[in-house]
Amino acid sequence: MNIHEYQAKALLRQYGAPVSEGRIVMKADEAKTCASEMDGPLWVVKAQIHAGGRGKGSFKEAEAGEKGGVRLAKSVEEAEELTRQMLGRTLVTHQTGPAGKQVNRIYIEDGSDIARELYLALLVDRQTSRVSFVASTEGGMDIEEVAEHTPEKIVSFSVDPASGLSDFHGRRVAFALGLEGSQVKQCVALVKNLYRMFIEKDMEMLEINPLIVTPEGQIKCLDAKMGFDNNALYRQADIMALRDETEEDSKELAASKFDLNYIALDGEIGCMVNGAGLAMATMDIIKLFGAEPANFLDVGGGATKEKVTEAFKIITSDQNVKGILVNIFGGIMRCDIIAEGIIAAVKEVGLQVPLVVRLEGTNVELGKEIIAKSGLNVIAADDLSDAAQKIVKAVKG
Ligand code: GDP
Ligand code: MG
Repeated sequence: MNIHEYQAKALLRQYGAPVSEGRIVMKADEAKTCASEMDGPLWVVKAQIHAGGRGKGSFKEAEAGEKGGVRLAKSVEEAEELTRQMLGRTLVTHQTGPAGKQVNRIYIEDGSDIARELYLALLVDRQTSRVSFVASTEGGMDIEEVAEHTPEKIVSFSVDPASGLSDFHGRRVAFALGLEGSQVKQCVALVKNLYRMFIEKDMEMLEINPLIVTPEGQIKCLDAKMGFDNNALYRQADIMALRDETEEDSKELAASKFDLNYIALDGEIGCMVNGAGLAMATMDIIKLFGAEPANFLDVGGGATKEKVTEAFKIITSDQNVKGILVNIFGGIMRCDIIAEGIIAAVKEVGLQVPLVVRLEGTNVELGKEIIAKSGLNVIAADDLSDAAQKIVKAVKG
């Protein structure tokens, strides 16, 4: 789960990390009052969406010259004007995809003067099974370019969980960032706080870009991106409370309510499968026969009829879906449950597209019989390859 920048900064503040003062604004009318509560003479007006690259992003249907989801204001009036321009508009960045994301919240921050922009991140490194630090002197809006063209400018190391974090880790980060004098001490303290927060809050990712040095030599977190381990959210009630469902794909949100493993994709063939491995194989074979999957969907081992019905409804609600492939290998999951779920869903929402069903395993004969008796227009398939070819042919002709 991801959270907004302003929420991440509140957490940083709680852990003693240096951040600027700021206010969250939901209505443009509030902007001037909020901005007045800070000293100026510079304010930063920041669109809050769950995606990075806002500074270089652009608004849909923006008038010429109106660019970027992070803008500087020199007066409280200008801060209000910029808030008005951004609220309710759709911001497209290299991380949102072409559809972009609607801006519903604006963060107005006390502006900082910048001497240097640095990069610092913590993440769970699957290769070493440890928490890794990633640091670079080349922070700011072009970190992707740095990673691609000059990867040697990015320093990374992991922390041994048995011995934990020590001051030398902080000094290592400080030297990687080219910090000197009192900045080293500030960096050691920051690294300690970030690591403690990362562990205590079950984070997956924490990115400060940019981490700045001010002309006075103070370091500060100017942007913050945080991701949390979904499997640990049950013990992070305060983090759960920060969830913004409007930032999530509506189909993925519905799926999560029914405990379905669903990920929306761009293709035309909706898939309903049991087991993550079979779901992956099904996606592969659809591609092999020349089409693209519209989703990854694992209904799980012990799915009920209701769960199968919901899954089917989520698939059919996707406008891009031109055909559906149900591929079930019944082990714990019984084929008759799947059949009943499909029929219940079709009764409720209808069936506008071709449907190929391949059932195998526990109660397969019963499942096939239920579907045959239902009078549904279902194309039956014998095996995975047969099923994939049939649905691709039904969709592509
Ligand atoms: P992102 O584009 O989504 O990563 O948003 P950031 O919060 O990182 O802001 C983008 C850029 O805006 C930063 O890299 C800075 O160059 C600039 N910026 C952000 N806050 C301030 C500020 O307080 N003062 C100044 N001068 N520039 C800022
Ligand atoms: Mg940034």
